[in-house]
Amino acid sequence: MDNLSNIRVIKDILERHDFKFSKQLGQNFLVNPSVCPKIAEMGNAKKGFGIIEIGTGIGVLTNELAKRADKVVAIEIDKRLIPVLDETLSEHRNVKIINADVMKTDLKKLIKDEFQGLEVAVCANLPYYITSPVIMTLLENRLPIKSITVMVQKEAGVRLCSPMQSREMGAVTVAVNYFSVPQMLFNVSRGSFMPPPNVDSCVVRFDIREKTPEGVTDEKFFFKTVRAAFEQRRKTLSNSVSCAMGIEKSKVNSVIDSLGLSLSVRPEQLSMEDFVAFARKLKSVL
Ligand code: SAM
Repeated sequence: MDNLSNIRVIKDILERHDFKFSKQLGQNFLVNPSVCPKIAEMGNAKKGFGIIEIGTGIGVLTNELAKRADKVVAIEIDKRLIPVLDETLSEHRNVKIINADVMKTDLKKLIKDEFQGLEVAVCANLPYYITSPVIMTLLENRLPIKSITVMVQKEAGVRLCSPMQSREMGAVTVAVNYFSVPQMLFNVSRGSFMPPPNVDSCVVRFDIREKTPEGVTDEKFFFKTVRAAFEQRRKTLSNSVSCAMGIEKSKVNSVIDSLGLSLSVRPEQLSMEDFVAFARKLKSVL
């Protein structure tokens, strides 16, 4: 069904199905007709690709994805939307809707079962209450996917896409850059949604790296160290890590010194290579 981002069409559908928005499920539906085609085009929805969508709403993005990709598998937690989607997506033979919580869905199995012979990408206007857990789960599980293109809150997008060694960066920046090449695509104003949220949004894309950075021998310890480094913002690397990980400051300092870094270095001054070397050396002195 076209016109799905026309506010009158949406209101009519929702009224007929007696649908009430759930704030808890982050239900802010897109009503700006220019946004979904852009997400689909910039998000790898094209021939030869299967797309996983998270959170369909009434199917406005699903519709644009289905027009371009070979297949779309969309996961929607709210069962009240299933009869709505039966109506709005009825013309597409290449869409499968799964009524489930994405956080409880085995995406590796889903990809194996549904997308044989296709490249796979994720596209979504994410419910904001699970933005970070969804992105981190998709990245950490090393799914066989090419890209993740998602709408997130503007502030979250800035943090996720801030370059390494910038003031805005945090532990999540290191994690995202470890698994992918992040890119800010475009901004979306709060007026593009029904009901409008209290914040503006943006669309970001993560192009998944074929190889993660070399030299990480213990990934779990690497990320534990990165989290510890940023646990106390505006503290030095030395103070933050020794405090958060309960390691003697002299030991942490000896590692920092052996890498040729200043003892007063702050975590946001480290490159990916510095973090890799720091975590490896730190582990060896424990
Ligand atoms: N894609 C639609 C659009 O752009 O208009 C809807 C986006 S709305 C921000 C988020 C959608 O995610 C809602 O339909 C909501 O019910 C669904 N959702 C919320 N939590 C979910 C979860 N854990 N798993 C799957 N879907 C979820």
